[in-house]
Formats: sequence, structure tokens, C-alpha cells
Amino acid sequence: MRNLVLYAPPAAGKGTLCEKLEKDYGYSIISIGQVLRNNRNPETEIGKAIIETQDKGILTPDDIVAKALAIELKKYTGKPIVLEGYPRNISQAIALDKVLNNYSVIVIQISREEAMKRALGRVTCSNCHKIYNIYDKALSPKKEGICNECGAKLDIRSDDNEESFNKRFDIYEENAPTIIDYYQNKNILHLVDGSVTKDDIYNQVKEIIKGSKND
Ligand SMILES: [Zn+2]
Repeated sequence: MRNLVLYAPPAAGKGTLCEKLEKDYGYSIISIGQVLRNNRNPETEIGKAIIETQDKGILTPDDIVAKALAIELKKYTGKPIVLEGYPRNISQAIALDKVLNNYSVIVIQISREEAMKRALGRVTCSNCHKIYNIYDKALSPKKEGICNECGAKLDIRSDDNEESFNKRFDIYEENAPTIIDYYQNKNILHLVDGSVTKDDIYNQVKEIIKGSKND
């Protein structure tokens, strides 16, 4: 099975997709945030650099991230992986080619408006953790602010606000054209319509996996 690289703006449905790919296909999900956390080690040069930058709240430099990723990927030799959250820019895309081969790139495309509705409309039950979306008829609770399942109060997710969402979307929009071009030229790009339901996103991805088996 081919490795997959998942590239998408915030709130495009990556989390659900990764869960399904792990469960149904046995992919190991490698998220770059987790890679950096795994390599926070004061005994190594790379680990020290990660700790230093993260503790200052600044971005870890590309070359350090690439090295940490290389260490992590070695653990999965021969096993299919989904890489998530990397590359975020063209220099990371070029660095990735040195440490990963035989992969397809899946880009989930969704408009800012739609992604924002999903990110900001999301509410979670404080008791049973069922997820609703107040902007989506099919996913909104029957009674405003109350869980359908258990009747408890719904909490708004605190990490989603318009400003932080827009910042993350800006970064995506800034880098997406060059990254998409890069993979288009390598003939490993697959575009997925992210405006549809999570099941329909998954169906598109399944077709891509089916197709790439015959490559
Ligand atoms: Zn509930």
C-alpha cells in the first residue's frame, strides 16, 4: 500500500479521515505535532532545538523538523503511513522527498466560509461528548444548547475562535498554490472535494487508494 500525505486547510475533516484510514486500512498516522513531541529530548541536538523553540513559542526551523521526521519515519519502514500536518511549505515539501518515497498526496479542498462554519459551529456535549454543528441542519441539536442523547448542556469548543481560525487558513492559502503545483508536476496529486459529508470525503479517498494500488 502506498504512503499518503494529507494536505488540507483547518476544519477540512482530516481528523475523522485519519481515524477511518487507521481503522479500515491499518495505516499508521504520523502527525508532525506528535513527531516533534516525541523528539523533545534534552540529550540530543535535535531534541534540544525542539525544546528551545517550542518553549519560546516560536516555530521550529524547517531543517530541525525534517530531521525529527526522518528519525520518526525510520520506525515505520515497510509499514504504510499517513503523514498529516507536513509539508506546510515548499521547502518542507522538497525536504520530504529525501526521507519518504512511494507516496500519494491528497489535498482536501474546502472554501474558507465552509471550513469556518465547521470550525466555529462545532459544539460538544459536556457529558457524553457527542459532537454537533449549529450551522449544519443535519448535525444541529433538536433543542438549542441541549444534547439530543443525554439532555446535558452543550459546550462550545474553546480552541476555535475566528481570529485563530483565520490565521491558520491564511497560512494554508499562502502556501497551497506552490505545494499543489509541486505535486501536480510530480504526478502524485489527488484533489478531494471537502465540501461534502465526511462519508463522501472518505469515499473519494478510498477510490484514490484503490487506484494507486495499480500504479
Ligand atoms: Zn450528551
